Amino acid sequence: MPVYIHAPEEEAPWSMGAASQWWLHHSLTALDQSLRAIKSRLLILKGPAQRALSDLIQTTGATAVHWNRSYEPATIARDTEIKATLRETGIEVDSHIGNVLLEPWTIRNGSGEPFRVFTPFWRACQRTLSTVPAPLPAPRSIAQAKKTPVGVPIADLQLLPTRDWAQGFSSMWTPGEHGALTRFEQFLDEAVNHYAGERNRPDHAGTSGLAPHLHFGELSPRQVLAHTMHITGESSQIKDTGAETFLREIGWREFAHHVLFAFPHTTDQPLDQKFRPFEWRQEPTALGAWQRGQTGIPIVDAGMRELWHTGWMHNRVRMIVASFLTKNLGISWLEGARWFYDTLVDADLAANSLGWQWAAGCGADAAPYYRIFNPILQAERFDPQRDYLRRWVPELAALPDAWIHQPFRAPPMILAEVGLQLGKHYPHPVVDLAASRDRALATWQRLRTPADPLDAAQAAPRRAKGKRAPSKK
Ligand SMILES: Cc1cc2nc3c(=O)[nH]c(=O)nc-3n(C[C@H](O)[C@H](O)[C@H](O)COP(=O)(O)OP(=O)(O)OC[C@H]3O[C@@H](n4cnc5c(N)ncnc54)[C@H](O)[C@@H]3O)c2cc1C
Repeated sequence: MPVYIHAPEEEAPWSMGAASQWWLHHSLTALDQSLRAIKSRLLILKGPAQRALSDLIQTTGATAVHWNRSYEPATIARDTEIKATLRETGIEVDSHIGNVLLEPWTIRNGSGEPFRVFTPFWRACQRTLSTVPAPLPAPRSIAQAKKTPVGVPIADLQLLPTRDWAQGFSSMWTPGEHGALTRFEQFLDEAVNHYAGERNRPDHAGTSGLAPHLHFGELSPRQVLAHTMHITGESSQIKDTGAETFLREIGWREFAHHVLFAFPHTTDQPLDQKFRPFEWRQEPTALGAWQRGQTGIPIVDAGMRELWHTGWMHNRVRMIVASFLTKNLGISWLEGARWFYDTLVDADLAANSLGWQWAAGCGADAAPYYRIFNPILQAERFDPQRDYLRRWVPELAALPDAWIHQPFRAPPMILAEVGLQLGKHYPHPVVDLAASRDRALATWQRLRTPADPLDAAQAAPRRAKGKRAPSKK
């Protein structure tokens, strides 16, 4: 009997965000439809999970309960308790690996510790990837239980937003297994070979868009591995650079789960303890401008508007907006992580915490804090024709390429020619880029103590240029 138990309060403080709830509604609907096609159905219950399961066992006489493991701290605690309680009552309980390729606790460095750096972690994973079993086909039929409770209709979970902000989602996404497989096939047919070069271009559709499908278990990383290996025709030595780079990103997903499992506090605390006393700024007005895509820095605003309208943002732009928030605005990475968690359809506690701590310089294999992205140069480099900016910041579309990513530097004559008034049609920058960069570096310098071994290794920020630790970004 396939069962979904809705108990968002048990995931607190990281209960599912609004965009994920939209996805969940459609994903559950799709799952129910495909189960009905084989004369089964999805039973939906409301939590608490422990009580819902116990009632269900009593009604149906079930003797065993199975689920796929989740690695988030709150669900680990809950599931461990449920497992123990059910076993005490003689019920067979088993959890399975479904969300990752390798169990996070099985990969260890030479000292038996969890990894904090991606490249050696992924090398260690690659040595064992050949042991990952091939995915099994879906069952063709499911035996009917004699007594099945009615359950609650999906609509009763009230997952869909009451405001109309999710309108743009449906044209971009098809939640559910069918949507996941279609997108994956398209990616393998059309994009994977160019992935290595295209994955950094927010103006092109060069990435897979599989993150929400992977998060919701509509496609498993095991399926991704099997098909990606298949393209290359090799089982352990992947030569094709597109497929290899793509699989490496799946490796980052594994790494995120590895880090979260080993360091569960990193959902709310920096992995690097040195950052605990960091002086983050309280800037509610600037935070609001960042959230609404009204900072006056076009590439940042483009990303934040893409996120709002589609529930997704390109990875390169996630890095740019995160650097801008944490460094130019000096606002805590946790504020950014919370906003992303609420608005991304692929919101994932492991990947989101890793991504934000990477950007803020305080996490595993993180970009050093002093590496502050220049959003103007980033836009020039990764959106060379300014197509991405024109799409998401249409009020600047008439500006020539030389100024659209930096309208605040445009000569008044150019602004007048296109009828653009800064402060009226598009905001002035909420912060001066050069001054805020210097302030961020000064805050970072205050954090460092003379006893910090980093001092010896990393000299002054500007001199450290070109000597960064290896990193995927
Ligand atoms: C600040 C910040 C926050 C992020 N928050 C999330 C999040 O909540 N959920 C999420 O899935 N990813 C997150 N990422 C990682 C990455 O941006 C997304 O996985 C990616 O943009 C999803 O698009 P895609 O499926 O087209 O990716 P593709 O480029 O096609 O990559 C394939 C898959 O690899 C995985 N992946 C790729 N990059 C990463 C990464 N850096 N870390 C972990 N997994 C990765 C994803 O599952 C993705 O679907 C974040 C990155 C940053 C910088």
